[in-house]
Formats: sequence, C-alpha cells, structure tokens
Amino acid sequence: MTIELIVIGGTWSVLPIEYKYWYIVNCFKAANDYRKTRKAQGVTQKAISKKLSIKKLKTVLLEEQKKNEKAKYNIIGLTLETRPDYIDEKELLEMRELGATRVELGVQAIDDAILKLNKRGHGVDKIIEATKWLRDFGFKITYHLMPGLPGATAAKDLKMFKQLFTDENFQPDQIKFYPTVVTRGSLLYKWWKAGKYKPYSDKVLQKLIIDCKKFIPHYVRIIRLIRDIPGESIVAGNIITNLRQVMQQKGVECNCIRCREVKEKSITNYQLRITNYKANGGKEYFIEVCSMDEKVLYGFCRLRLPSSHNAQRITHNALNDAALIRELHVYGVLVAVGKDKKIQHAGFGKMLMAEAEKIAKENDFEKMAVISGVGVRGYYKKLGYKLKDTYMVKKL
Ligand SMILES: [Zn+2]
Repeated sequence: MTIELIVIGGTWSVLPIEYKYWYIVNCFKAANDYRKTRKAQGVTQKAISKKLSIKKLKTVLLEEQKKNEKAKYNIIGLTLETRPDYIDEKELLEMRELGATRVELGVQAIDDAILKLNKRGHGVDKIIEATKWLRDFGFKITYHLMPGLPGATAAKDLKMFKQLFTDENFQPDQIKFYPTVVTRGSLLYKWWKAGKYKPYSDKVLQKLIIDCKKFIPHYVRIIRLIRDIPGESIVAGNIITNLRQVMQQKGVECNCIRCREVKEKSITNYQLRITNYKANGGKEYFIEVCSMDEKVLYGFCRLRLPSSHNAQRITHNALNDAALIRELHVYGVLVAVGKDKKIQHAGFGKMLMAEAEKIAKENDFEKMAVISGVGVRGYYKKLGYKLKDTYMVKKL
C-alpha cells in the first residue's frame, strides 16, 4: 500500500524547526508501526516524544525513513505548503531531509500591483526565484492561484494564466484554483461592505475557468478548482462546488493530466510522446506513454536538464552536474499483446526511465538524480540507483 502524504494549509516554513521534524518523524513512524499496532489489539501507538533535541529527532527520522523503504505502508511522496518568499537553498535542503518531493506555493497572482494591493509582502520576483530554486532541486511545483483578487479583472486573470505557460520563469507542474471569496471578518469583507470590492459573479468565474482550461498544456495538472469553505462563512463570491461537472455538461474539453488519466484497466495500443519546453534557465522534458490519439495518459516522467550555471549554483553534492527526474508516475494499466492478446504488466516505468536516461546522456549528462519519495527508493535501487544526499543517483 502506498501513501501520498500532503500537509495542507498554512505556511510550513514558519513552524519551529523542532516541531517540523517531530511532526514528520511521527508520520513515518505511524506508517511503519501501523501493522504492529493493528495486530496487538488494545496496543496504542506510541508517538516519538516532543522533548527530543533536534539532533536526536534527525537521527530518528533517518531511521524511520530507512524502515519505511521496506514497510508495508510506503510514503511515496510528501507535499509541503509555503509562501514564495520563504523558499531558498537552506529551506529546500531541510525539506529534502524531511523527505518532501512536492511544494505547493501560495502564488495567488503574478502581477506586482495585485500582490501589493493584497499585502502579500513580496513581488513577482520572489515567485520567479522560488520556482527556480524548487526546479533546480527537482521538486514538483504546485501553484495556488486566486482569480478575482482586488485589483484583478477576468481579462487580467486570463492574461496571467496564459503567461504562466508562455514565460519560462513560471511553468508550474500543477495548478490549484482558489477563487477569491469574501469571508466575514476579513479585510476583504470591509472593502466589500464599503463598496470598494466586488467578487466575480458565478457566470464570470465560470467563463474564466473554462477559458483557462482551453490553454492548459497537456503536461500540467489542474488539481482542483474550489476552496472548501463551509457554505455559511462565504458572504459573497463563488458558491459553485461542482464546476468540473458543469463544464463536462457544456462539453468543454480539458487537456490537463488529470482529465487525461487512463480509466480502463487494460489497453492494446500506446505510443511514447516527448514534449520539451524551457523553464527557469533549463530544459524540461515531459515524456509520456499515451493513447495513439494522445487523449489518454498511461504514465509520464518529468526530466530536467539544468543549465551548467544552475549546477554550479547548488552546493548539494548529489545534484552536481546531474540531470534530474522530478516525477515518475505510471497508472498501472495492463497491456494485451501478441496474437493471443496475453495480458501483462506494461513496464511503463522502466520504459520512461530508460528514455529519460537516454535523453540525458545524449545531452552530455553523466549522472541522473531522482527526487524519490522515501517509500519508492527500493524501485530505483532495482534500476541501479543509489541513495546519496536524499536523492537516488546513478552514473549514466
Ligand atoms: Zn483538466
């Protein structure tokens, strides 16, 4: 069984360091001990003490992570949420130690005037810098976007959305939309009361999201559209909770990863498709196995070839001169092959990794580093990778 661990809400980076390590070490311990505590009825699981020193916590974390590599419940990914202005090399080294593989960034908008008006405390430059750091460390990057902020218009929001994928400074892997809502007691509530702010009507918001979906590249995943706020706390603003269904009814096709994920259990035909694009001073390859019409996705891999400048910038040993695998995801479909249509596992993971290694080699990279979730390290070991500085690394 695999566990995708996502720590949601708030700003991870502002928490005290002892708390952060204590929290994550207990997540790993819970996954590792689960079977034992289930077996022995009445035995409650013992958490690791909050009183341990940071040094001791780090030691125990390494032990629990090692255990998790072979545990029945593998933590295959860890997502942390933070603000762009907290991302730097030190922060990312710490996140890697904790086992994080994906970061959700509270981006909101990529417009200095809007960020300033909404008192975000930083400008677009910080968003660009954070994105670059995250990418060069191999993290998967999720942007939180807030359409309808004070200072925005639907036209401006759409323009910003398009810029995310035409400007190499951004290129997030995943998007979460949080349409701005007015909640009682907030600053926005005062502005709304005073007539200084008006949220988008449902109709305007719906059209905007549909327009955005028309531009979403096939290598990006829209995770979700609506913030879950209990109905009564929303004074004005978006109240649609099933926009996705509404769009399906209207026949709007979305080309994002989520909408292309395979739903069948077995397939007969597939192709390898490679897309590359520039991002944050490097080259990204989206290598996918998909249906012949490209509409259904069976698996994909994100390969990054950093520029030599980037390689020098990062002091992390494992990443020196390395090409990076930022993500490998296969959906476990079976393939019917041969005359008798014998069903077998497709082995798409291996195929995608081999293709990524080939591309890296052709581009003169001698090393590959995978930002592997702790619970998937065993998989890469079988492919000849070794653990080095929290990454799985292989000489090419
Ligand atoms: Zn979609």
